[in-house]
Amino acid sequence: MKIFVTGGSGFIGSGLIRLLIKNTDFTIVNIDKLTYAGNLSSHVEANSNPRFTLEQIDICNKKKIDDLFSKYQPDAVMHLAAESHVDRSIDSPSDFINTNVVGTFCLLESAREYLENLEQKKAELFRFHHISTDEVYGDLGDTDDFFNENTPYDPSSPYSASKAASDHLVRAWSRTFKLPVLITNCSNNYGPYHFPEKLIPHVIIKALNGETIPVYGDGSQIRDWLYVDDHVEALLTVLKKGSVGDTYNIGGNNEKKNIDVVNTICDILDEIASSRRSNEIKSYKDLITFVKDRPGHDKRYAIDSSKIQRDLGWKPKETFESGIRKTIHWYLENQTWYEKILSGNYRFERLGK
Ligand code: NAD
Repeated sequence: MKIFVTGGSGFIGSGLIRLLIKNTDFTIVNIDKLTYAGNLSSHVEANSNPRFTLEQIDICNKKKIDDLFSKYQPDAVMHLAAESHVDRSIDSPSDFINTNVVGTFCLLESAREYLENLEQKKAELFRFHHISTDEVYGDLGDTDDFFNENTPYDPSSPYSASKAASDHLVRAWSRTFKLPVLITNCSNNYGPYHFPEKLIPHVIIKALNGETIPVYGDGSQIRDWLYVDDHVEALLTVLKKGSVGDTYNIGGNNEKKNIDVVNTICDILDEIASSRRSNEIKSYKDLITFVKDRPGHDKRYAIDSSKIQRDLGWKPKETFESGIRKTIHWYLENQTWYEKILSGNYRFERLGK
């Protein structure tokens, strides 16, 4: 099987590539623009593997995407490329509209045109898997509800609005053009190779550097956390077994308040990395500082993932407690990975120079 992975050098995409190299015999073409979020050292084991090719291309460049379809004749597309950081979408939304909306449109159109000329048997087996987020459903506020696959879309941030728009395009291409799509909407991921600006790595790195740990508002926002390896296993399960045209919600059943996540990280660091703590503080928790809340900050997300569990037999392997320990250990052992990013030096690696 030959597969296009878009955004394969990002956090989740690199986890997917590591899984595909290890557990499948797929040939993988990673289509990635290598923005600030793309990092070739996140899938270093793939780079020299003959089953792996990098195409450094912007998904908004339809001509180049068309050429890739002609050149490789893929059996499936797993579309992860996106601008993904909510704070950046508030500061500068235009990249989010370009990549998440226009880029998805270009891929859909290229895939549709490619399928029109494909032999029937291969066309029937083709899948376009669009990877999306639970943030498209909006804010559950103080309710006890969960998002399911039929929850109406109500995005709050430019990021979630752009992802919602891309989901709508994918659904429209499925219904109108019969493009064989699969859509997954997943909760917050965490784990190794997570870009340092995101909450969990940010807290770990700030704590280890003895810097203040900023927490938005009062830290009471609730997210459902899923270990990244569980997410990529779910993606592969949906690709192999999902029903064409269906949406699957993916979640970890690990609802946590942000402040509880931060406190847990500090507790574990106090336990396993107390020697790196400054003598001026008694606990890493002493570094926590509450800062002005993010505008439009959603209060609660929670996913009902019973459909994928029941229909496709997937369930997460990690609890939050096991996954967060693995993650913290990984950052302790891979300081060079994040220090290169923080210093900007990873750019040369990103560009393969
Ligand atoms: P990321 O920001 O870590 O990686 C994005 C990747 O896409 C990078 O490698 C980047 O170089 C590439 N990219 C960006 N713009 C591009 C363009 N125009 N053309 C080609 N490549 C481009 O993102 P992530 O956290 O790995 O998320 C991957 C996908 O999963 C996204 O679609 C995101 O919406 C979705 N998702 C993420 C989470 C999460 O918690 N991180 C949760 C649910 C869904």
